Amino acid sequence: DTIGQNLDRAVAAWPDRDALVDIAAGTRWTYAEFGSAVRQLARGLIGSGVGKGDRVGIWAVNCAEWVLVQYATARVGAIMVNINPAYRAHELAYVLKQSGISLLVATQRHKTSDYRAMVDEVRGECPALRAVHYIEDGSWDALLDAARSVSDSELAAREAELSCDDPVNIQYTSGTTGFPKGATLSHHNILNNGYWVGRTIGYGEQDRVCLPVPFYHCFGMVMGNLGATSHGACVVIPAPAFDPVATLHAVEREQCTSLYGVPTMFIAELNLADFATYDLSTLRTGIMAGSPCPVEVMKRVVAEMHMEEVSICYGMTETSPVSLQTRMDDDLERRTGTVGRVLPHIEVKVVDPVSGVTLPRGESGELCTRGYSVMLGYWEDPERTAEVIDSGRWMHTGDLAVMRDDGYVRIVGRIKDMIIRGGENVYPREIEEFLYGHPKIADVQVVGVPDERYGEVPLACVILRDAGDTLTLEELRGFCAGQLAHYKIPAGLRILESFPMTVSGKVRKVELRERFG
Ligand code: ATP
Ligand code: MG
Repeated sequence: DTIGQNLDRAVAAWPDRDALVDIAAGTRWTYAEFGSAVRQLARGLIGSGVGKGDRVGIWAVNCAEWVLVQYATARVGAIMVNINPAYRAHELAYVLKQSGISLLVATQRHKTSDYRAMVDEVRGECPALRAVHYIEDGSWDALLDAARSVSDSELAAREAELSCDDPVNIQYTSGTTGFPKGATLSHHNILNNGYWVGRTIGYGEQDRVCLPVPFYHCFGMVMGNLGATSHGACVVIPAPAFDPVATLHAVEREQCTSLYGVPTMFIAELNLADFATYDLSTLRTGIMAGSPCPVEVMKRVVAEMHMEEVSICYGMTETSPVSLQTRMDDDLERRTGTVGRVLPHIEVKVVDPVSGVTLPRGESGELCTRGYSVMLGYWEDPERTAEVIDSGRWMHTGDLAVMRDDGYVRIVGRIKDMIIRGGENVYPREIEEFLYGHPKIADVQVVGVPDERYGEVPLACVILRDAGDTLTLEELRGFCAGQLAHYKIPAGLRILESFPMTVSGKVRKVELRERFG
């Protein structure tokens, strides 16, 4: 199926079920309503001159229109380019130019971000960009009005030209380790992935999925939107951008059965002073992904948020994204100690990062994945594509992993984050896990910083539970003494109020390294 064909199936099967709820805007659509809104926008795009393979940008925080653009661009064979709402003008200009966007849908402003002003600032540099439509003004209506000149049969004729292997999306990676890269993905890539992720957590028409994660990222638009609509479930948008209070309100009000988040989002929700007052009893499942989840957090998510069937996913933008996932009946040990096992129709292996030889189970090396989920390539960048996808179509993830005897995979860290202290490999994750157990520590990141004697040493960046509290390096080292090998004990400590984050909710360790290195 193409994404359009798959949506048609959902509309035919569940016309009266809720498809989408946007709480902030008060929008509520059944599948029949959502399906016809998508068709109208699709005809509007054709009427505005969008051809097959044209790039259409979407630059907005989460809203119902974002989802419309996602499905309508797919219907007309355009390639939607997700633009990070945290971008500033020069980054916008980079994406507009790099992917050759001809039509841009944007929000005018959100909080302190004046998107309209930034578009105006760079528009002159981007000759390919011929139209900009703002969701909140008449230019959006004009896009919908353009549908009048396009018949349903014209839309059908366009759809008949499409193949499920056509590119449908350029998704930029989070930029956790450096500059974001534009992964080009097909209908087949992302629709299958959304379907399998949803199926693994048992989605059906009765499910209501709360999505506080950004749509611009694959977590929201593939695992969320496509995961839900390919099974007739309902997408619930709690707020335009992550807000722990709005998220728990949405779960309660919309009786959500599933909740997504990166670990830091769950931590923020659990730490709300009035957390215990929300009725979260309708939740049964959800997805936690993107970065490692501390054991204590997982325990609370299961016990206090009722998410007994919560699933851990591992993936990357370049692989649609998910390749490993825990199963609904996995125990706490598997959910905290591993990122699950391989999804159907995907292969994984762990190789020696230098020689490329496949390692036996139990040994740590670079994780590689292969299957339908591997991207077509980085957009117009064959050289970087060849650096990560080898001649056997294996994607080299850049992550260190161990496959256990039961086939479950443990992520050890990113190759780039590994600290080499005087010849010893130190994995920040292991130290972080241990430090979470310190009563004064709310959140912690460990990075390697240069050291004359050892080359590199671990530095702990800590957010304290109580901002008025103090924590000294001696205290911290005393806590570790006898519990961690001496070379893993942090040599430095920095107390921070927050961590530099990507919009997808990941800590930019690279920035911490630069700041304190
Ligand atoms: P960039 O490639 O631009 O530096 P990024 O790798 O963070 O950024 P994404 O594609 O959003 O961009 O994230 C994929 C990465 O996220 C994986 O390579 C892995 O390092 C990490 N990751 C994903 N899921 C998990 C998980 N469940 N546990 C630990 N790490 C994870
Ligand atoms: Mg990456």
